[in-house]
This record gives sequence, structure tokens and C-alpha cells, in this order.
Amino acid sequence: MKEKSFDVIIVGSGPAGAIAAKKLADAEKNVLLIEKKSLPRHKICSGLVSKEAQNILKKESMPIPKAVCVRPRLGKGVQIQLNMNSEFIKVPDRFYNVLRRDFDYWLVLKASEAGAEVWSNTEFQNFSSKQDKLIIEMKIKDEITNQNKIINVNADYLIGADGGTSFVRKILYPDFKLEYVAIFQEYYKGKIDLDPRYFYAFLDKRLSDGYAWSNQKNGQIIIGVGAFKGKDIQKFHAKFIEYLEEGYGLRIEEKIRKEGCMEPNILKKDFKPGFKFGKNNILLVGEAAGLMNIFGEGIPAAFISGIEAANSILSHTDKTQSLSDIYLKRISKLLKKLTKNWENLDKTLSTFNIIR
Ligand SMILES: Cc1cc2nc3c(=O)[nH]c(=O)nc-3n(C[C@H](O)[C@H](O)[C@H](O)COP(=O)(O)OP(=O)(O)OC[C@H]3O[C@@H](n4cnc5c(N)ncnc54)[C@H](O)[C@@H]3O)c2cc1C
Repeated sequence: MKEKSFDVIIVGSGPAGAIAAKKLADAEKNVLLIEKKSLPRHKICSGLVSKEAQNILKKESMPIPKAVCVRPRLGKGVQIQLNMNSEFIKVPDRFYNVLRRDFDYWLVLKASEAGAEVWSNTEFQNFSSKQDKLIIEMKIKDEITNQNKIINVNADYLIGADGGTSFVRKILYPDFKLEYVAIFQEYYKGKIDLDPRYFYAFLDKRLSDGYAWSNQKNGQIIIGVGAFKGKDIQKFHAKFIEYLEEGYGLRIEEKIRKEGCMEPNILKKDFKPGFKFGKNNILLVGEAAGLMNIFGEGIPAAFISGIEAANSILSHTDKTQSLSDIYLKRISKLLKKLTKNWENLDKTLSTFNIIR
């Protein structure tokens, strides 16, 4: 049984958790970053690291190394098609094209180099409080024996950085319910007459709930769709492939792999961003806090909230002050921006009778 105590325990080693761990370790805090999967871990994502996200990392003296990028390394932006066969609208952005497995692992290594302890195969289970301390229950899986053991570790603070299906959030807000949308994408070898430096979003609702997309990494074509509960996601996917074959020269030579996940249903009509920020000495960051834009881009918000959660803990010297109030103040600019972006896009999209 490990008898350990930390200043801060962070649940989840995505961009939000890793950057919070690095910031806190840089400030000499005793930090534990736990991740339920073995590391490096795969994460379903289009892997567009926007200029905004790059600038945040630059400011933190963490320029993205070429080694974590894939071909083509530098993107040119997003092209959006509102209805089937209509013109594409170009939204420029010099994004970096990454695989999340490599990108997120690089972030975890940065946290580790700064002094954070990292435990993989370690799943947050629950927490309780004793006087001023939090007691965090976690399940550790031994990779060799495959046996699980439950341990308790003490901490002054907990950060829930455990993504869109956050369990920390579920415990803090048991009545908060989110609807989820199924996401499915496949990787192919083949040909397509779409520029690999762009991410293409197809908003016509005959092709997908949410939107259908195609992008390219290391010469592989990725084709994905979403489906609301009760809808046939494979049917959408087959129709979208047919559409790309007919209109955009798609020729599939070999299927490489497929993957799927459930994501909060942010594109549902009347969806209101369910921002949740934590209680007492527990903060929520990144997607666990609901921080992403209407197109599901969330890495910049994960970085900003991770950094500001760390800064809030570092400035929490007067214990009579509410930690979540400090945090809310620090991320107010991000919240304003996300809400405005949400409202503007929501208005624009409703006029086209698409997506929903
Ligand atoms: C299909 C798709 C495409 C996307 N494309 C983009 C894109 O191109 N650009 C962009 O900016 N955003 C994109 N996003 C959004 C982006 O992936 C998320 O916003 C971002 O990953 C959020 O980071 P995070 O650190 O909050 O959470 P995550 O990256 O989800 O990390 C959470 C981590 O917590 C771990 N975890 C969960 N539960 C526990 C537990 N109980 N105990 C321990 N560990 C736990 C998980 O294993 C995971 O590693 C996309 C999302 C999807 C679904």
C-alpha cells in the first residue's frame, strides 16, 4: 500500500491535466497526475492544434516539436460546406497536424520533467474529505498480473481533467445530465480530391448528425460522422462515403482502422453549454468543465483552463476565499469568448436549417 500525500492530484492526462500538472510542478508543488489508460494513450480526435493553442504553448515556453506532428505538419484551415454540393467556406488557421497519442504524451513528459509524478493505469474512483484534506480513492491496474488494487491517497486539492464523460463531475454534480452523440471514423489508404492541408466539415444533415468530416494524416484519409441516439451511424457513414466518391474522387484502396466514442451532444438544437467548474478544493478543467466550442474544438480551452486552475491553486493563500471564485474570475475571458462564439454560430447555423 502506497502511503502518499500530494498538494494536488490531477485526474486525466489530456492537454488540460498535463498542462495544469506542469504549471504546478514548475511552482514546486507536489503533484500527482493520474491516467486510467496506459501511456502513451490514444485519443479520438482530428488533431488540429490551432494557432491559438500554439500561441498558448509558446507563451508557456513549450513550442510544439516537429516530432509530434504528422504530414502535412502545417494546415491551412477548415473548409465548411453548408449544404450538399454547395461552395466551401474557407476559415483560415495555420494549425499543426498531430496525432493525439504523441502530442498528449509530449505534454505528459513536460509535466514529468517539471517534477510531477505520473501514474498510468490508475483510475479515479471517488473522494471523501477529512478535516482540510481530500482522500482520493483510485484503482491501480498491474499491467503484468492484470490485478486491480484500490488505494487512497491524500491531497489538498483535486483537479478533474477527465474529459467529456468526467467522473469527477458526475460525483460533484450527480443531477447534471448530458446527452451524448456517437462519433465514428475510419482511416483509409486511397485517393481523394481534397487538399490534405484542410479539415473539411460537411454540415448537410443528410450526411451526419452534427457534421460529417474528412481530413488527412500521414497520407491516410480519415472519414467520420456523428449520430444522435437511436440513429444508424453506419448508414450515415456509408452515405457520406458514397457522396465523397461521387463528388470528390474518393477511391478507397485499403481500410486501415476504425474507431468510435461518445461525446457530449453539443450540436443538439437548444443545447446550452453545461459549464461546471468544481466545488470547494476541487476544480474542473477542459472538457470535464464543458469547455469547447460549437464545432467541438477544445484543445485551446483545455490549455487555458488547465493553466488558470493551476494559477488559482497557487494564489489560494487566503483559505477563507473560495477557490472556484478565483478560478471563475481567471477564466472569465475564455467563458465570454466561448459563449459569444456559441451564440453567433448557433444563430448562423439555425438560419440554414442544417445540423439539427
Ligand atoms: C472526433 C473528435 C475530434 C476532435 N478534434 C479536435 C481538434 O481537431 N482540435 C481541438 O482543439 N479539439 C478537438 N476535439 C476536442 C478535444 O479532443 C478535446 O476538447 C480535448 O481533448 C479536451 O482535453 P481534456 O484534457 O479536457 O480531456 P481529454 O483529452 O479527453 O483527456 C481526458 C483524460 O482523462 C482520462 N480519464 C478519464 N476518466 C478517468 C478516470 N476516472 N481516472 C483517470 N483518468 C481518467 C482519459 O483517459 C483521458 O486521457 C475533438 C474531439 C473529438 C471527439
